[in-house]
Formats: sequence, structure tokens, C-alpha cells
Amino acid sequence: MDVRLKFLGGAGSVTGSRYLFTVGDFRFLLDCGLFQGLKPLRLRNWEAFPVDIKTIDAMVISHAHIDHCGYIPKLVRDGYDGPIYCTAPTADLMEIMLLDSAKLQEEEAEYARRKGYSRHANPEPLYTVKDAQRTFPLFKTAGYDEKIKINDNIEVVFRDAGHLLGSAIVEIFITGASQQKKIVFSGDLGRYQQAMLAPPATIEEADILLVESTYGNKENPFDDPADDLTRIANEAFNRGGVLVIPAFAVGRTQTLLLYLKRLMEQDLIPDVPVYVDSPMAISATYLFYKYPTYHKMGTTSKDLAEEIETNMLVLVKSGEHSKTLNDLRTNAIIISSSGMMTGGRILHHMFHRLRNKQDTFLIAGYQAEGTRGRSLLEMQPTIKIFGESVPVKCKVEQISSMSGHADKEELLQWLGGFRKKPKMTFAVHGEEPDISVYAKAIRDRLGMKVIVPQYMESFSLFEGI
Ligand SMILES: [Zn+2]
Repeated sequence: MDVRLKFLGGAGSVTGSRYLFTVGDFRFLLDCGLFQGLKPLRLRNWEAFPVDIKTIDAMVISHAHIDHCGYIPKLVRDGYDGPIYCTAPTADLMEIMLLDSAKLQEEEAEYARRKGYSRHANPEPLYTVKDAQRTFPLFKTAGYDEKIKINDNIEVVFRDAGHLLGSAIVEIFITGASQQKKIVFSGDLGRYQQAMLAPPATIEEADILLVESTYGNKENPFDDPADDLTRIANEAFNRGGVLVIPAFAVGRTQTLLLYLKRLMEQDLIPDVPVYVDSPMAISATYLFYKYPTYHKMGTTSKDLAEEIETNMLVLVKSGEHSKTLNDLRTNAIIISSSGMMTGGRILHHMFHRLRNKQDTFLIAGYQAEGTRGRSLLEMQPTIKIFGESVPVKCKVEQISSMSGHADKEELLQWLGGFRKKPKMTFAVHGEEPDISVYAKAIRDRLGMKVIVPQYMESFSLFEGI
């Protein structure tokens, strides 16, 4: 039996995580993410899928971020109807994320149609809410450390990656006629010190390793964000403005609430209303209550409430209510998504507030190339929103220590957990030139054999096992 791996994404780019494994005559897709960021990348989402979808027998999903699962509804739309394996929180989160992604795409197509700014006469969404809904019955869930048999020769185990609620490192065991081989995919790795999630599980063995490198060339030592958050919030209110925090709905929003609650309790920042203006963030917060064993915030819902519910916490559900937030002048915090400012309600806050010099935007997460978030971080003089160039006059702040991603040292620390060097390590989820610098660091420090695969490159992993 031969085992082959083809990089359908996540190679040479951070987004579009898609790895196609062919084991004998069985085919499965590890992650099925959307390409995000620069246009040439986003256009890949529209290209014909490189293999016949009917020949894919299963999917395994590491976690619910859209760049790891956001392409599933497109494949389901095109005929995929096999099982999709993931952890239980990942399944619940994917329902939220995929519905949101579908809705954004429908809205974007509709908007482009109305404004006529698409090259196509009749712009279509990549997939619809209906397509997203058709994926949910395919989910098959398992807990961490449980063995899942996906066919006679292949078993999968999810380990805690500490990156997002339910996020997993994926171990794949392939049993051939005479031997067993193990493939490990790091997924996205979290940090060793973080407020809400456990550190990534140590993996000691693998024949083949796929390791992420989002921050592979970035030193980002853990630094308690409390001090920065205190200064930024107080300065924002002293300037008579509102503090807007574009945040990833899952994880970052809840962690921000936790810090804000602590700072308010210690009277370090004023006890102002905190608006969570994102239906997705609200639903995700409920999942933290539903899955207490997947995070560190106590074991009962009361424990969690005490950690994250600020005194004047407002969960903004309706779009009408959301629009009234435009009238707020000061002493308020708005947490809204999407975190990279590619869509969602944050866009109307940007549209109204980027031009206000009293207001502050606090960037608290990774911003991929080509996103509005990256443009804001780079202080571009204008940012395009709803087809209009909006001048950036507001204050822009950044807290990088709240990242959900392991930095270079932490990635190397995790790699150092392998007792035996993998026969081959693929560095994935990174952009040049950083990924090559990272690959060299792994070679130099750990003596591992590292390949930086190219998009659509294919490798034979094992022959005749
Ligand atoms: Zn992720």
C-alpha cells in the first residue's frame, strides 16, 4: 500500500489549509479551508477542485477556523457526502462559522450585484446558507485522545492544540500489511501560557510531521496584556472616544471579556458598558458554557460567568441594535468581528469610526496579508469599505500578546517534544520569506529534515507499507 500527500493549500500561504491523502485506494482530506487574503489567493476558492470530489471518502478537520474548514460547504455543494471527523466543540463551532461564512458570501454577491462592482454580470456566492446546512449532518465527533477508525487501515486521534475551543493536533495511524506508520499534523498551535485554554499537547513520535508556521519567524514572548489594555482603554476614554476591538468571535472575544472584567474589578479601567456586537461571538460564548472540559475557566457555568461577564455586558443580537451603537460617543467598548475585518458587523463600525480621531481601534490578533486588518495595522491613509475609501483618522493600537498562535520559540519548543526526529517534516501555513527562515531554524536547532512544500506539490510518503 502506498501513501501519498498532495498540498491543495496551506503551502506557501497561511490560509487554505487542505491536505489530500491517498492511502491505497482510500482518499481523505485533512482540513478543508478557505483561502483568504490577497486576491490571487481568494481566486483559488473558485478554481475547479483538482480531484473528482466523488473519490474523496472522508474528511478530518483540525479546528473550526474558516481557513481550516470554510471550503467544506463548497465541496458538499459539488457532491461530497462522506463523513467529516472533528471534536464535538469543533462541530458546534463549525455550524456557527460556516453559516456566518455562507451568509457573508451571499451578502457580498448580493452587494456586488446591486452596486455592479463585480466583473460578473450576475455574481454568485461560493456557497449558500443551504449548502452550509447540508454539511452539518455529516459531522462525526470524538473527544480528545479517543481513537476514531476512519477505515480498516486508518485511525485518527485528536489531541488538544490549545489554539481554539476544541482545536486539535491530528494524529493519523496507517496500518499496512507489515507495519504501522504515524503522520502528525500540528493544526494551529496555541500558546504555552494563556488565559483560557490549556497549552498544546506534547507529541513525542511521528514518521511524518506537518507543522504550522503562522508565527514561525516571529518572536512574540508572552506578555500579560493587562497593562497595555489598561493604558489603551483609559487613553481612549480620556480622548472622549469609543474603544473598538475587532476580535475573532471565538476565543479572542471571551479572553478580552476575561481581561476587561478583571481590570474593571480592580478599578484599573472604568466600569463602562461592553458591547459584544457579533451574533457569532455570542453563540461562541454559549459554547464555552457548554464545553467546560475544553477550557480552563472552572467546571460550572457560574465559574465561567464570574470570569467573563462584566457588570454592563450587552450582547447585541439584532442588526438594528447594532446600528444604534454608531451613536455612542465615549465610555464604551465595542467588541465586534470579524477579527481581520474582512466582513461582519465590524465593517459598519469601521465605516463610521475610522474617520473619528477620538476613537480607538485596538487590533488584538493576526492580520493576514491583503485583509483590511493588515491595511489598518499598516496605517494606510484610506481603507475601502462598502466600495468607499474611508479615511483613517482614528488612533490604532495593537496588542500582539493576545495571539492564539504559538510564536517561533513556542513552535520550536513544541517540536522539541519529539523524542525521535520525524523522517520528514513539512513546514506549512506560512508565507515566504518567513517560512524558509523558520524551516532553517528547525534544521539548525533540532536537526530535523524539513521541506517547504509548494502549492499543489505532491509527495510519496511511504511505499509498500
Ligand atoms: Zn486557527
